[in-house]
Amino acid sequence: MNESKNSVLKNPTEQTLDESTTTSFDHVIINANIATFSAQHGFGIDIGSDANEHADSIPYGQLLNAAIGIKSGKVAWIGTQNQITAHLPKYQASQITDVDDKWITPGLIDCHTHIVYGGNRSNEFEARLQGVSYQDIAAQGGGIVATVSATRAASIESLFAQSEKRLIALMKEGVTSIEIKSGYGLDLDTERKMLTVARQLGEKHDIHVSTTYLAAHALPTEYKDHADDYIEQVCEWLPILHSEGLVDAVDGFCENIAFSTEQIRRVFEVARSLDLPVKLHSEQLSDIGGSALVAEYKGLSSDHLEHLSEEDIKKMAASNTVAVILPGAFYTLRDTKLPPIEALRKHHVPMAISTDCNPGTSPLTSLLLAMNMGCTLFYLTPEEVLAGSTVYAAQALGLPNKGKVEVGCDADLALWDIARPADLAYQMGLNPIQGIMVQGQWRERM
Ligand SMILES: [Zn+2]
Repeated sequence: MNESKNSVLKNPTEQTLDESTTTSFDHVIINANIATFSAQHGFGIDIGSDANEHADSIPYGQLLNAAIGIKSGKVAWIGTQNQITAHLPKYQASQITDVDDKWITPGLIDCHTHIVYGGNRSNEFEARLQGVSYQDIAAQGGGIVATVSATRAASIESLFAQSEKRLIALMKEGVTSIEIKSGYGLDLDTERKMLTVARQLGEKHDIHVSTTYLAAHALPTEYKDHADDYIEQVCEWLPILHSEGLVDAVDGFCENIAFSTEQIRRVFEVARSLDLPVKLHSEQLSDIGGSALVAEYKGLSSDHLEHLSEEDIKKMAASNTVAVILPGAFYTLRDTKLPPIEALRKHHVPMAISTDCNPGTSPLTSLLLAMNMGCTLFYLTPEEVLAGSTVYAAQALGLPNKGKVEVGCDADLALWDIARPADLAYQMGLNPIQGIMVQGQWRERM
């Protein structure tokens, strides 16, 4: 370990804590165990390149028996319980939360979702299990076509109501930031409707929503055999929706059954001209170079990745692109090809994990279960899946002030009744949430 790192880890929380500092806190959380996921507190899965250096990191960047001072919605101070105790008598009870040795993590971040859609496809799920083939279901107007039809037909109020249930389910498991994609409209009006609902969900529930334009998701039936013409429309709609404030990032589905790298490149060129970050559904079913394309555009993330090559992993590492791992789709499709986790580790590509909540391949509204699947199916560690739904999920959304408990970051927190952080990835179906805080305000105390 080198000198500078040693000094960082030795006393990462040393700050002046006098009367003037403490009286400026709006709120103080005491008696907490904190998984900070902050490098300032020793979190360092990806620090350095040799094993010895890795061994010096502190698991989860954890701080035991600690306290947090919050001011104007931000973390203003973190330190030990002893440091803050002398200053507590002057606080009103309403300004103090005694969490009684429970655990605090950053609020969870679901960085890849399609939660806004109309209808559902449980009828197809049942038919398939009764022996009906995918081909027959598709021939009867099933599959993504069914979701596009239901989403186009839904009023904005109905679409909001249907989607809100899924958002609430995620929030009840500690999610304080979420990414929501369009991509079931495949026409201008419905793509707009989906992104508008995504914005409305964020406003009503007062949590962070990052919107993603995914018109290049599938070829609508009216463009059958005219994919290039459809991509031209996708490129024309993007500046319109962006000018309406509806687009934070741009995505596509790069696959033999969807769009080629050349078609996606045309969409990315428009995104670049608008200064919008890109991401991509890549290498889920085959390796056609989607991740290399994302890396070329210095994209935020490349997602799915079961068929990703080591050569393209190196490109992702060089462009600091996050690998978003989606075990819900792997599980639902009964896939057997594992994403190249070991190679991603070797090249220090940050890994995020997400529900990929969608009506076809991942009807999953539990980020905790996605974490468990990440460990059980993909051999990720509990620390990796928790980092993947906090600090690296924030990176996948371009949100440097979220996903860690660190001075200056947003006070977005989740409070858990657990013995240790690994419980969050270990248990299935038991929800140990006690509350979420968003920008310094307790939003739910369950
Ligand atoms: Zn997806």
